Amino acid sequence: MLDGLNPQQREAVIHHGSPLLIVAGAGSGKTRVLTHRIAYLLAERDVHPGEILAITFTNKAAREMKERIDKLVGPRSKAMWVMTFHSACMRILRREAKRLGFPSSFSIYDQADSQRLMAMVCREMDLDPKRYPPRSFSAQVSNFKNELIDYETALDKAGSHLEKTLAQAYKAYQLKLTEAGAMDFDDIIMNTVTLFQLFPEVAEHYRMRFRHVLVDEYQDTNHAQYILIRELVGHPEVRTADGDVVRQGADMSELCVVGDADQSIYAFRGATIRNILEFERDYPEARTILLEQNYRSTQNILAAANAVISRNESRKPKNLWSDQGDGPKIVGYVADNEHDEAVFVAQEVDRLSDEDDVKPGDVAVFYRTNAASRVFEEIFIRTGLPYKVVGGVRFYERKEVKDLLAYLRVLANPNDVVSLRRILNVPKRGIGDRAEAMIEALSSRERVSYWEALRRADEAYGMATRSLNAVREFVALVEELIAKAEGMPPSALAEEILVATGYRTELEASEDPQDESRLENLNELISVASEFEEANPEGTLVEFLEQVSLVADADQIPELRDADGGQGVVTLMTLHTAKGLEFPVVFLTAMEDGVFPHIRSLGEPKELEEERRLAYVGITRAQQRLYVTRAAVRSSWGAPSFNPASRFVGEVPKQLIDWRTDPGKTAWNAATRREPAARPAPKSGGRTVPVLNPGDRVSHDAFGLGTVVSVDGVAEKTKVKIDFGSGGEKTLLLAYAPLEKL
Ligand code: ATP
Ligand code: MG
Repeated sequence: MLDGLNPQQREAVIHHGSPLLIVAGAGSGKTRVLTHRIAYLLAERDVHPGEILAITFTNKAAREMKERIDKLVGPRSKAMWVMTFHSACMRILRREAKRLGFPSSFSIYDQADSQRLMAMVCREMDLDPKRYPPRSFSAQVSNFKNELIDYETALDKAGSHLEKTLAQAYKAYQLKLTEAGAMDFDDIIMNTVTLFQLFPEVAEHYRMRFRHVLVDEYQDTNHAQYILIRELVGHPEVRTADGDVVRQGADMSELCVVGDADQSIYAFRGATIRNILEFERDYPEARTILLEQNYRSTQNILAAANAVISRNESRKPKNLWSDQGDGPKIVGYVADNEHDEAVFVAQEVDRLSDEDDVKPGDVAVFYRTNAASRVFEEIFIRTGLPYKVVGGVRFYERKEVKDLLAYLRVLANPNDVVSLRRILNVPKRGIGDRAEAMIEALSSRERVSYWEALRRADEAYGMATRSLNAVREFVALVEELIAKAEGMPPSALAEEILVATGYRTELEASEDPQDESRLENLNELISVASEFEEANPEGTLVEFLEQVSLVADADQIPELRDADGGQGVVTLMTLHTAKGLEFPVVFLTAMEDGVFPHIRSLGEPKELEEERRLAYVGITRAQQRLYVTRAAVRSSWGAPSFNPASRFVGEVPKQLIDWRTDPGKTAWNAATRREPAARPAPKSGGRTVPVLNPGDRVSHDAFGLGTVVSVDGVAEKTKVKIDFGSGGEKTLLLAYAPLEKL
């Protein structure tokens, strides 16, 4: 159990009793320590697997941990909970939902569902969507929940008119959720906390059950998750109002958290590194262990990562080293456009597999935003390179997939108003907006759920007979399906829905080629259900829906199916999803200011630092080879954009990068094949626009020699501030200034 660990790691594994914090840079074996610690607990400290709760950030990490433990203890490991915060809370809530007034088959609303519900609320409150955008309300309610602020508190604290409106919408939204028997993603955490606080005996039960709580990636916990952990392990001490300690937390569970403040990349979801920085204050007995050796990456990769992250202010300097040797240099490439960038990646993967025995499964391609995957997919399909896009979002966001899931959800929970209204007239059955609104009026007049109102549609005022009949037929259809749902596996039920509703026939009869791919997607969903049934022979519809909701969450990694006989497939994913993973070969693509760092972060020091941490995460995923690529022209929403090189690439010491192209290549000098009309004219004299970073020496035709002070803005609007010594400081538009880099 202790083999293959250095002395600090070993200490962390055998540490006994008080709360334990392991802080260390990327690739230093934090996750490995967690896994070994679990194995050690089982083997040497006689802990039962059922007493262990390990929180990981992704399903993939959870699976890997489980596999390891499986090898050690066999099927006993089944009793162990290794899962994400959401999965763990969901399990607890399924058992305890009734205490909070929810059915145990409660629905789970993803972001799109909760936005729909919020839109309904705002409509009912007669709010002008321009002044009070439902999406923004949704996001703010999510922030409240991450901070564990309920609507009563929000109402109390609201000062301005806008705050009051928001708090009222929060309240109405929450009441609607309860009525629908649904929870949104943030509720899953918040309601578990509420459950533990309202019912101490329930908290006690889980505390006695989970004597060991281990949390990976602790730097990305938000306040709600932080409190959840405190409730779960018990408080270190109980104090009177005067601050006297009345009880030391003798029955606390053992807590072990690991993390790296430099990898905190979820501030936009309320994550706060306060939790890691103040661990010792939260748990005065705590023990902290630092790890300094990186086992993942070559020295070159690590040096690049360290150089980039060291630009962030207010961080604790770290001394991360590796004894893996320098390894190959980082490869830099500037493509003419985004297609060429993808072609370069495909060719390199090909070349590496010929020359270096690299398999597609060893390679990962990272990008900043989901939409960037499309071009890579296109080129990879064309060149026959097997790949997999990670991040189930896109599939589960498709209309037809959401439709079918909505049917399934209604069968599990007819009060689920968002799903119910989604399918009310899908496929079209003559229930128009007017009829829908009348049912809504009936539901609020009679204070019954939307489903109940549908069943009593004949009491609605002014319904046309035709609409009434359509509603009656719909209710009969759903009731019939509910009756059938009993004892039918989810895949068969899904098929039954497609047939009974006419959804399948409609798509099959269509001439629209898009409808064919819709059919494929529906069939894919049915195979997802079949796979679920194979893996869980006893699995219920509710459990299937629960699994889908968790996978559909943006940052969960679905099973990577090995499509190519052991060679694996290239992994395409966003930088956020890449957290905690490692690959022999990594491509960081679209390394352009305005793409990465993201355009919204430019000029926002805090957000820029978060982007830089994301760059640090990206670089440190690479074990042996790292590529940084960008495109001189990129079409975004059809219009070409010319982004300067990412400042993060500029922060990597020059001697670490081997440029395959002119690193300063721009659309001005690139042989751009596409969109020739959009190519700006080269500057007079045929000069190219230089790529500049603070500190660079330049020569200006009129002002002479100078030093770059700062570079700001994007593309054609990039401004450079240059110190011309006695000539003073000047701010110039980079694209037009007669400048030469020295
Ligand atoms: P991240 O911050 O990216 O999550 P981490 O600190 O969790 O990284 P791990 O993923 O646990 O790091 O480890 C990185 C790599 O180093 C893994 O391949 C792991 O097996 C290996 N490793 C860790 N410790 C040792 C060790 N003592 N000896 C050999 N290999 C090790
Ligand atoms: Mg890790």
